[in-house]
Amino acid sequence: MINRKSRDEIKRMRHAGHIVALVHQEMKKVVEPGISTKELDNIAMKVIKSNKAIPTFLGYNGFPASICTSINEQVVHGIPSDEIILKEGDIIAIDVGATYGGMVGDSAWSYAVGKISPEKERLMKVTEEALFAGIANMRAGNVLDDISGGIEDVANREKLGIVRQYGGHGVGHVMHEDPFLFNYRVGDQTLIKPGMVIAIEPMLNLGCDDVKVLDDGWTVITKDGAPSAHFEHTVLATEDEPILMTTLME
Ligand code: MG
Ligand code: MG
Repeated sequence: MINRKSRDEIKRMRHAGHIVALVHQEMKKVVEPGISTKELDNIAMKVIKSNKAIPTFLGYNGFPASICTSINEQVVHGIPSDEIILKEGDIIAIDVGATYGGMVGDSAWSYAVGKISPEKERLMKVTEEALFAGIANMRAGNVLDDISGGIEDVANREKLGIVRQYGGHGVGHVMHEDPFLFNYRVGDQTLIKPGMVIAIEPMLNLGCDDVKVLDDGWTVITKDGAPSAHFEHTVLATEDEPILMTTLME
């Protein structure tokens, strides 16, 4: 069942999303060669807690940190560590969740560490474009497949791999609610209605689609070792334009 959020729930979610955006604003400032992913996690935790929110990821299915940090060939769910130090030329996807007033905001962004290769540059640019192509189709009267198709078309145009095993999801009272949203067409004709909130999150690869999970039980990497990028916003469907819930509020 896909629940539709009330005005009050949307208000709290918007606040949660603002806090997630504050974390990303901070991440953008501090991501540079020499910083460890554990330091990034500490900074994120501080921002979330100082804004009276709860780090949604911490303890989620046993996840040990407040953010996921996935570098280069890592796709999603990378675990922050003192031993993982960013270096020039890396790209890092940082996924952040915050719960405020019982409602969740979820957003991921990929960042360049210093100067990166033109191929990684292209990967990040296109994945972000795919996210916004999906968002543009999240309109009342469209179906879920329209969002998926918007993402797929951009990925195909640029011949990027599309991660198949992971995708977007309803979000609200908990991080993962119905529906699951594929990043490619599967024929899902579920109607989009005002009040539905979905985390749209393309994960695209410079190589093949295939991924696998490392022995730590969390970190997902591309099978061919090619770099992967990840961009995500929590988005509200309305009668009119979709509304981004995970941006800074004025
Ligand atoms: Mg996320
Ligand atoms: Mg998500």
